[in-house]
Amino acid sequence: MTLQLNRRVMQWTVVLYLALMIPITLLHESGHVYVCAENGYQYRVWIDVTGGHMQCFGRLESIPAYNAIGGVFGLAGSGAIIAVWLAAKRHVAILAVGLAFMVDQSAKIILEGFFTRVYLSGSLDIFVTSLQLASWFGFMLYFARVKAPEAVSTSR
Ligand SMILES: [Zn+2]
Repeated sequence: MTLQLNRRVMQWTVVLYLALMIPITLLHESGHVYVCAENGYQYRVWIDVTGGHMQCFGRLESIPAYNAIGGVFGLAGSGAIIAVWLAAKRHVAILAVGLAFMVDQSAKIILEGFFTRVYLSGSLDIFVTSLQLASWFGFMLYFARVKAPEAVSTSR
């Protein structure tokens, strides 16, 4: 059995992921910003090569909901991407990208919300980056698979 891959699906999965990475990151940070501002604190948000960052000038790190809400906002954004695919019923690259962001944001809800101290120390960065790459390329390869013609004709 040879594995054939749809080149267009792969290209679009790469392009869409890169194009939506910053918007999803900003959406994630805006979740933290929302809670920070609601509590009457100042904040700053910035993006660099390591990703999005947000600093709240108030002590909210002890509140799990504050730490988890970035991922909740990000998850909502991932859901919106998947909803676009559901509405279009085509272009699986959109679904692949939505699912990849969903995995990343779900992991961040758990890690930021419940393992805050470890997460903020940066020692999970390698794990988070590996998970991002694995889900991005994993879903890309999964949805780019091309069924062999003989398999299509025999399976009814
Ligand atoms: Zn966050």
